[in-house]
Amino acid sequence: MKFTEEHQSLSETVKNFSENEIKPFADEWERNKVFPAHELFKKMGDLDLLGITKSSEVGGMDLDYSFGMVFAEALGYAADLGVITAIGVQTDMATPALDRYGSAEIKKEFLKPSVSGDFVSAVAVSEAGGGSDVAALKTSARKDGDDYIVNGDKMWITNATQADYFCTLVNTSNDNGPHNNKSLVIIPSNLKGVSIGDKIDKLGQLTSDTAPVYFDDVRIPQRYRIGPEGEGFKLQMQQFQEERIFMSVSCLVMLDQCVSKTIKYCKERQAFDKPIIFNQSIHFRLAELQTEIEALRSLVYRACEDLINGNDVTYLASMAKLKSGRLIREVSDVCLQFWGGMGFTWENYISKVYRDGRLNSIGGGTDEIMLKIICKHMGTLPK
Ligand SMILES: Cc1cc2nc3c(=O)[nH]c(=O)nc-3n(C[C@H](O)[C@H](O)[C@H](O)COP(=O)(O)OP(=O)(O)OC[C@H]3O[C@@H](n4cnc5c(N)ncnc54)[C@H](O)[C@@H]3O)c2cc1C
Repeated sequence: MKFTEEHQSLSETVKNFSENEIKPFADEWERNKVFPAHELFKKMGDLDLLGITKSSEVGGMDLDYSFGMVFAEALGYAADLGVITAIGVQTDMATPALDRYGSAEIKKEFLKPSVSGDFVSAVAVSEAGGGSDVAALKTSARKDGDDYIVNGDKMWITNATQADYFCTLVNTSNDNGPHNNKSLVIIPSNLKGVSIGDKIDKLGQLTSDTAPVYFDDVRIPQRYRIGPEGEGFKLQMQQFQEERIFMSVSCLVMLDQCVSKTIKYCKERQAFDKPIIFNQSIHFRLAELQTEIEALRSLVYRACEDLINGNDVTYLASMAKLKSGRLIREVSDVCLQFWGGMGFTWENYISKVYRDGRLNSIGGGTDEIMLKIICKHMGTLPK
């Protein structure tokens, strides 16, 4: 990956934004169990940060994904994975398919205000009956004249209580099998029949709002469909790749900082008349972790290069997602241990990464689903 002065400049802008507009407020937003999405996204839209890879016709910067990746990595300076994930929903999870396959009309209506930060978006795929088995979802969209009537319940939806619209995966037919009967549709949150459940009490990422969303005879025009009818499963699988790369890259800065903050602490902390860093079991372990972090960084950069070159990125993106989920758990757990009792306090940087980072092995496809995909690409199992 070759980085230019433009990449460096974008990285500095995002770092400054993250350190000044997110990090100082994260504690308060954690206590409130929500961050002000419209306010924050508008500030980001004004700085052209929400449409880096989106086309200029919707106000985007039309840059290749290396810039999207630099953006996601520098968001790590916000040190709050709840807000970072919510931003990722807006830039890399709810909008890539709309950008690629949406009609000019619906891009103008939904994508343009998402890029400017006037709209907050959400992606509604998972259901209570199952998240891993996407093909088994039950929400349906039945044709009625020029409209669809949508019925069903979605679960675990990030940004749900603040979203202006949901990029929603629904069954548009009972025929053709579960991989060819689905469509992605936009459902505005202010329509009759849309209701949002209570925010879910979570282990971490408390700044982001996660809630169920219910559709009860919701009428949407068929023109709110993204791409051809029946292609939704494939479009969502494609959209998942940006989501997985985003999740893998946006934790890197926090992983680096877990290690560097732990080194600093272990140099200061004395036990048995010497700084604890002098124990080889500690400094070797930290060197091992940093090596793993750099290996993850290289893997994500390779996945990004493949994406830019138009290759199928599923194999590398799944590996990067798997590795990031596992590594964030390992790094935060090991570093927390070296802080002793201090690591177990709420305010500690490492303990926050420990609880917030746990989602990386679950959201956007679990570790086991990543392994399943990797096995498929390796030809591990007979067809
Ligand atoms: C905080 C949070 C935010 C989220 N945000 C969103 C969002 O914005 N939009 C959205 O659509 N979804 C969202 N999700 C849902 C997320 O994508 C799902 O939780 C995830 O895909 C797992 O689905 P599940 O929870 O139903 O687990 P299940 O599918 O019930 O899985 C349970 C366990 O079984 C394992 N398992 C399942 N199948 C297999 C298999 N074939 N082989 C081996 N193991 C298997 C899983 O890996 C897991 O360990 C969010 C989830 C959380 C927790």
